[in-house]
Amino acid sequence: MFPPFNIQELVVYYNLKTVSCILKDFTIFISTGRIVYVMYQVTSTKAEEFISHEEILDTLQYADKNKDNVELINQILDKARLRKGLTHREALVLLDCNIPEKNEEIFQLAEQIKKDFYGNRIVMFAPLYLSNYCVNGCLYCPYHLKNKHITRKKLSQEEIKKEVIALQDMGHKRLALETGEDPVNNPIEYVLESIKTIYSIKHKNGAIRRVNVNIAATTVENYRKLKEAGIGTYILFQETYHKESYERLHPTGPKHDYAYHTEAMDRAMEAGIDDVGIGVLFGLELYRYEFAGLLMHAEHLEALHGVGPHTISVPRVRRADDIDPDTFDNGIDDDTFAKIVACIRISVPYTGMIISTRESQKCRERLLHLGVSQISGGSRTSVGGYVEPEPEDDNSAQFDVSDTRTLDEVVHWLMESGYIPSFCTACYREGRTGDRFMSLCKSGQIQNCCHPNALMTLQEYLEDYASDSTKQTGEQLILKEIENIPSDKIREIVKQNLEQIKKGTRDFRF
Ligand code: SF4
Ligand code: SF4
Repeated sequence: MFPPFNIQELVVYYNLKTVSCILKDFTIFISTGRIVYVMYQVTSTKAEEFISHEEILDTLQYADKNKDNVELINQILDKARLRKGLTHREALVLLDCNIPEKNEEIFQLAEQIKKDFYGNRIVMFAPLYLSNYCVNGCLYCPYHLKNKHITRKKLSQEEIKKEVIALQDMGHKRLALETGEDPVNNPIEYVLESIKTIYSIKHKNGAIRRVNVNIAATTVENYRKLKEAGIGTYILFQETYHKESYERLHPTGPKHDYAYHTEAMDRAMEAGIDDVGIGVLFGLELYRYEFAGLLMHAEHLEALHGVGPHTISVPRVRRADDIDPDTFDNGIDDDTFAKIVACIRISVPYTGMIISTRESQKCRERLLHLGVSQISGGSRTSVGGYVEPEPEDDNSAQFDVSDTRTLDEVVHWLMESGYIPSFCTACYREGRTGDRFMSLCKSGQIQNCCHPNALMTLQEYLEDYASDSTKQTGEQLILKEIENIPSDKIREIVKQNLEQIKKGTRDFRF
């Protein structure tokens, strides 16, 4: 049917209607008219092939054409009910669907999948900003190089200790390390030394048991060093999958290189980091484009490395020093945001979903039902902010926090809303990462660990850090939730461990 072609530059001489042929792991698009690029290859290591612009445009068109196609939507929903996930094309049809009854089904299914996979547990974490020195020019971030009125800070190891003690005293066990990109001020050696410092601090009963790392795209060699340092998840947001917008939004600095940034997770996985966290900054580009790109990235990681992303983050552009979110005209309202979260939940049931304190209490409450499994609490988004919150006239925060409650208030609120706040970090410490973690998830076995671990780590929190009223609410919740552990044997072990925790022993885990 086709003339011989060069796979990169297939010129079609026929005036054909848009068709797509899926040939094992790549798709050929033949546009009406003349030039066609064979670009989409899910297992390619080239950014522009696994995040193919043409494939996204075609997907947008396909979804728009089918958004009222009830028969197709029903088929996709039936597939989603099998809890094996959806392709980016199928997911975008659901996202675009504007039939009220079908949307109701989508939200209900997202809630059900959330319950089936994550129960009522919510994992807690906090960001820790090490340095806001940065050589990049990202237009949406106050740490960009040209911002001369922000105070630049880099924590010394002594200051990191103080921040970590403050975080431990709040009750945190899991951190996400953040630093700007600056080879002189924040070289990899600084990050590695900081990780070592963080893991070494044992203050009273406190301990940071999992350090996730969010640093700029780097080399395989540096990723290997991070792996050896014992990091949990390597997190890197794509910001936008739209190459042209990406290059405009990152006019200067090493981050300008779209391919190097987009291919970072492949280098991290090549280096042995098998838990990676992806995300986009909603508001920079059209949300439908980002949504398709995000799911294509997840499909690529699964196809190439046998394991999809460990987490997906869904931040929205926020106000900050030198940054006005109104200058980005792709902002999304709360209803669209909720639909995005629900559709991600349905499309990648095994991937944790993270929402930060960028979002308000009200918004977070809604998203917890629909699929979010991890939230931050009591966060400070400035360098050194846990020991010394920045004064009003010196705003060095990366973004304004919407949810300003303390960790204790967030924990209390979660429990009153029927959730179990979990400080569990067991998987990575038990070697359950990457495909091992995913296969346990897919078999449903992970549930036998998460629920008991949530109760035991919550008990630790209640003993060591909670206010009286939080402790009272938590004790009642644990008593009720113990009975929901299906295995008699595990229930008995948990009961014994809870007693031991009350007597001062720490760090039980399944
Ligand atoms: S988003 Fe990251 S890389 Fe960009 S300016 Fe901010 S800290 Fe630097
Ligand atoms: S057992 Fe593993 S998956 Fe479950 S909450 Fe703990 S770390 Fe997460």
